[in-house]
Amino acid sequence: MRLDVNKTIQWMQLTNEKMQANKDYLTTLDQPIGDGDHGINMARGFQEVASKLNESTYTNVSDVLKDVAMTLMSKVGGASGPLFGTAFLKLSTKLKGEESVKQDIFGTALTEAVNGLKQRGKAEEGEKTMVDMWAPIAQLFLEDSNVTADTLLSTADSALTKIKEMTATKGRAAYFKDKTVGHQDPGAASTYLIFEALAEVWKG
Ligand code: ADP
Ligand code: MG
Ligand code: MG
Repeated sequence: MRLDVNKTIQWMQLTNEKMQANKDYLTTLDQPIGDGDHGINMARGFQEVASKLNESTYTNVSDVLKDVAMTLMSKVGGASGPLFGTAFLKLSTKLKGEESVKQDIFGTALTEAVNGLKQRGKAEEGEKTMVDMWAPIAQLFLEDSNVTADTLLSTADSALTKIKEMTATKGRAAYFKDKTVGHQDPGAASTYLIFEALAEVWKG
C-alpha cells in the first residue's frame, strides 16, 4: 500500500467525521482527568482541516499534511493543538515532495512525528499521553513489512488497553496522578481515531 494525495485527503476527511461523531465521548474522557474540552478542541480543529482541504488543490502528500499541521496549530487550543500540529508538521517535512509514499518511508516519518511530540511535550513513552498511541503505530510501520488494516487496528487496540492502566505524569491529567489509572487518556483516544481512519484508507 502507498499513501498518495487522494488517500491522504480521504484519511483526513474520515478523521474529521470520526472527531465529529466522537466529540462528546472525547469530552467525557477529559472530564474526570482534565478540563473537559478535548472533544470540542478536536471537533473544531478537524472541521477546519476538512474545510481547508476542500477548498485547496494538492499535488503532493506533504503539502496536504502541512496544511493539516498549520490548521491544527492555529485552531485547536490547549496542549493538544501544538502537539498534533507538531506531529503532522514532522510527517510533512519528512515526506517533502512525495506524491506516493511507501510504507517504510511512512514509518520513518511517523518516527519523526513521535520524536517531535516527545520533544514538544517533554514526554516519554509510558506517561499516559498521545505519545503512547503514536509510538507503537510508528514502530509497526517500521518493523512490519506488510501493514494491513487489521494489524494497524490491533496495534492501536492493544495500545489503548495499555494506556488506560497507566498513571498520567504529563499534562493536566498529571494532577490526578493515581486516580487516572483505569481512565482512558483523551489524547490517546483521539489519536486512535486518526489511525482507525488510516486503517480504512490503507485497505483500498
Ligand atoms: P488541555 O489539557 O490543554 O485541555 P486537551 O484536552 O485538548 O488539552 O488535550 C489533552 C491531551 O493532550 C491529553 O489527553 C494527552 O494525550 C495530551 N497531552 C497533554 N500534555 C501532554 C504532554 N506534555 N506530552 C504529550 N501529550 C500531552
Ligand atoms: Mg482538556
Ligand atoms: Mg483545555
